Amino acid sequence: MSEDLLIKNGLIVTGNERGAIYGKGHVSVSNGMITSIGPGGPSMKADTVIDASGCVVIPGLITAHTHLYGILLRGASLNVDPPTDFAQVLQRVWWPLDEALTVDDAYASALSASADMLLNGSTLYADTYSGPNSIEGSLDAIARGTREVGIRGIVAFEMTERHSQQEGERGFQEGLRFIKSLKKNDLVSGMMSIHASFTVGDEIVAKTVNEAKKLNVPITVHTSEGLVDLYHNLERSGERTVERLSRLGVLGPRTVLAHCVHVNDHEMDLIAESKTSVAHNPMSNMLNAVGVSPVPSMLKRGITVGLGNDGWIYDPFENMRCALTVHRLASGNPSAIGPEQIFRMATLDGARCYGMDSRIGSLEEGKSADIVILDGSRVPTPLTKDSVIGHLLNTFGGSDVRDVFVGGIHSVENSRLKLTSQSNVAKISRESARSLWSRLNK
Ligand SMILES: [Zn+2]
Repeated sequence: MSEDLLIKNGLIVTGNERGAIYGKGHVSVSNGMITSIGPGGPSMKADTVIDASGCVVIPGLITAHTHLYGILLRGASLNVDPPTDFAQVLQRVWWPLDEALTVDDAYASALSASADMLLNGSTLYADTYSGPNSIEGSLDAIARGTREVGIRGIVAFEMTERHSQQEGERGFQEGLRFIKSLKKNDLVSGMMSIHASFTVGDEIVAKTVNEAKKLNVPITVHTSEGLVDLYHNLERSGERTVERLSRLGVLGPRTVLAHCVHVNDHEMDLIAESKTSVAHNPMSNMLNAVGVSPVPSMLKRGITVGLGNDGWIYDPFENMRCALTVHRLASGNPSAIGPEQIFRMATLDGARCYGMDSRIGSLEEGKSADIVILDGSRVPTPLTKDSVIGHLLNTFGGSDVRDVFVGGIHSVENSRLKLTSQSNVAKISRESARSLWSRLNK
């Protein structure tokens, strides 16, 4: 029997529960699934054979929280007074941005952000789109851009009642409509998304939880990213943010709380007891000066933590490196968190956040062939089974990504997009951003 694909002679980091690593190993793929993985070279034939000598083969990295439309803000010079706290970051930057977005912008940003993530080694993102003036059809546009690039996406409309209850209802309906329109075995799946506890009333939260359960899809909500969320909840209901979410039935194994910067021990206990997951976004937290999420305490409680970028810096290696260092700085403990823990957050635990760990997140027989091959030629010290995890956190970056496979489809080859024109993606994205910036600075 002939396999579709054989990757041989690579240093294979499986990312499985045991952390198995094979020097000069192989991965074979048939019908998009991994059929064999292990040390040495098998005797089977394959339609495509890739010699990964000198390369590291890892599972596709997982971006557990992002905003694709954030890419359109890269380098923008906005005529706003510099924000001095997180509430002002939202009011002066993010909310004017999302109000100016069109469905075409949603498509353009999905193309370019998907391309950026895939080229840097991420094979799945979980996105929430916010656009109060571009609600209907936005998720179809995002799904189209995602499929054209060939990355996996979990797509959601970020529901908010920031302007009105009607706005919340329209966002809710867009999410529902989109999820119901999806077919099985698509690169794109759906989830329900609530912007944040402080921008929604009890009624729509309960309704969203109910529908997400019925549809058996994940639900995500920004949680105490900044103090504004915590203070708002304390003032309005006398509860901390996670306490309110718990009372409203939001917590549970299909829920991913983004950020969780300002959470105390009781809130972390609630998260752990309910088997809720957390998407950690350290670079974004630093950018917005919101604080440091107590991730080491979450890990001690057994909370599943994935790694996200929150719409800024899509290279997962940069986010991994930041996650490794920020908790050491914050705690004054150079052993606060280790490279194995961070790599796991970016792979298997990222998949676990969204209930996808039986299908992706590690290189194992029977799992989908979401595979990244890293060029090891610029590694300055020995690249061995013992050193490779250290190199993944200390040496490698997105620019070392040579090949990417998603479900066995070769979507990046020699560091270039294979399924669509990279120059066309850049052109569409730049045109969209140029127009968006001029609207923002009017
Ligand atoms: Zn976010």
